[in-house]
Amino acid sequence: MTRATPHRNSPIAHCSLLIPHSSLYFDTHTHLPDDCTDDEAEVLIREAAEAQVTGLLLAGTSLRDCPQNLALAATHAGVYTSIGIHPLEVQDYDAAVAIPQLRAWLAAPHVVAIGEIGLDNHYADSAPAAIQEQALRDQLHLAAETGTPVVIHSREAFDRCHALVRECLPADHPLQIHSFADGPAELEQWLKLNTIFSYNGMVTFKKAENIRETLRLVPLDRLVLETDAPYLAPVPFRGQPNASKHIPLIAQRIAEERGLPLEELARLTTANARRFFRIV
Ligand SMILES: [Zn+2]
Repeated sequence: MTRATPHRNSPIAHCSLLIPHSSLYFDTHTHLPDDCTDDEAEVLIREAAEAQVTGLLLAGTSLRDCPQNLALAATHAGVYTSIGIHPLEVQDYDAAVAIPQLRAWLAAPHVVAIGEIGLDNHYADSAPAAIQEQALRDQLHLAAETGTPVVIHSREAFDRCHALVRECLPADHPLQIHSFADGPAELEQWLKLNTIFSYNGMVTFKKAENIRETLRLVPLDRLVLETDAPYLAPVPFRGQPNASKHIPLIAQRIAEERGLPLEELARLTTANARRFFRIV
């Protein structure tokens, strides 16, 4: 059992825990709960490791939540982070402040992607579409300029999101489509780009056959796991706060849907995550 004990920013310590355990799980998209203390974060990271989830990516959503994620990634083996402004966090978006800050953070230890960024029409009342699009464009340009993989949040917004990605990024730019919930036609369009797809606890929801339908179509070398904690806890914890320790439940259902042994599913999704985020 690997325990995620705090480490100074040592690349050697960082790698040595993961290399011999490459078949363990990687949660490619998780968040700390609101107002999470550092002590509470330590517990979440430790409980994940005890559940064999030894790789975590803390996905940034705003200039407010990135600093804590950056600090945890810099001091914990197996913890990585992405930096970015979520489409529903753009109310006070100011490119002159945000983009230089994000650019500076890209140089911090274990920052492996820009995200989660994208468009969200489900809650569009809380974030005007024009500002969402501006923030997305600016962050995609930063990703293109720096060659950084991108984590995409697209909710009821496929057409515009896909169009802006095509407009702002080179065709082969690495993209993670997080919590993919569109249909086979949209999947086919994303598959033409350099994409991976992360599936979460929704795969266990009784009525989510539409999610399982595309899950069965994703090529196995482009599939990764996520929790999107503290949201979307898998059955039987649905409705409760989610955490990375629940990844094995998600993996179990995905393995069943794909007809693979659980260990094989864990091995290949972790390898895909490490390759995508360029973790050596
Ligand atoms: Zn998220």
